[in-house]
Amino acid sequence: MRLKKRVAIVTGAATGIGQAIAVALASEGAAVVVDYVGKSQLADETLQKIAAAGVQGISVEADVSDPAQVQKLVEQAVGKFGKLDILVNNAGIEFKQPFLDFPFDLWQKIIAVDLTGPWLCAQAAARQMVKQGNGGRIINISSVHEDLPMPTNAPYCAAKGGLRMLTRTIALELAPHKITVNNIGPGAIYTPIDKDVEADPNMEKQLMAEIPLGRWGRPEEVAELAVFLASDAAAYITGSTHFIDGGMLRMAGSL
Ligand code: NAD
Repeated sequence: MRLKKRVAIVTGAATGIGQAIAVALASEGAAVVVDYVGKSQLADETLQKIAAAGVQGISVEADVSDPAQVQKLVEQAVGKFGKLDILVNNAGIEFKQPFLDFPFDLWQKIIAVDLTGPWLCAQAAARQMVKQGNGGRIINISSVHEDLPMPTNAPYCAAKGGLRMLTRTIALELAPHKITVNNIGPGAIYTPIDKDVEADPNMEKQLMAEIPLGRWGRPEEVAELAVFLASDAAAYITGSTHFIDGGMLRMAGSL
């Protein structure tokens, strides 16, 4: 049990990578706050898996782009479990459309959820961690697209690129408090966010050709990395992005 007696918040934990991370943290002994928006049944599914791991969990509906809701999320976590040790900024959205046609309101929405959200959650969580005085862990689920451009996906790439520098900068500011800040940069992981590619055999074939290991990654594989970064074994790691992409980044541009 690598995370016994720790308390974690995972944002967007009702589905996909967030759900896998919430369950993996719980399997290592952490109490988990499942943040979600929309259908509570999906969050309940995550809670059932957390309970099956034999630890406590609660779900809290909070839009990560809303400062008041983020504040409430942290307050509810601390109210229920007495403290906060780990924040996983996982919530994210994307919408693909050529740049010349991209609607401004969608740009604003994507930046709000994918970049402002991690900022708000990290600030609220770090303020609590500093107050506690025992350090902490902030783990942001970024993407290979913090580095790799993707035509038709400019707001998402801009948000993840911003997350790269947010992490590097606040890692320095929070280091004196023994709070580490790291990004995980997944490649193609099989979750609902990629349903357009999963539904189109041609697009899927093209994607697989770009992945040296030749397959989708699994949410559980990303979750393993999050558990490691949250654990004591990762105490000396901060300010970095850790890619988990089947070699995709190294392949890009190799022809
Ligand atoms: P997903 O769509 O299953 O998960 C995203 C979750 O975020 C959903 O549960 C959604 O309800 C939640 N969410 C959306 N807006 C929110 C908001 N305003 N407040 C709180 N929660 C909100 O997809 P996923 O693949 O599991 O994505 C998780 C993270 O992983 C995202 O940040 C995504 O950018 C990143 N990522 C995914 C892949 C991939 O291939 N699946 C690759 C790289 C990065």
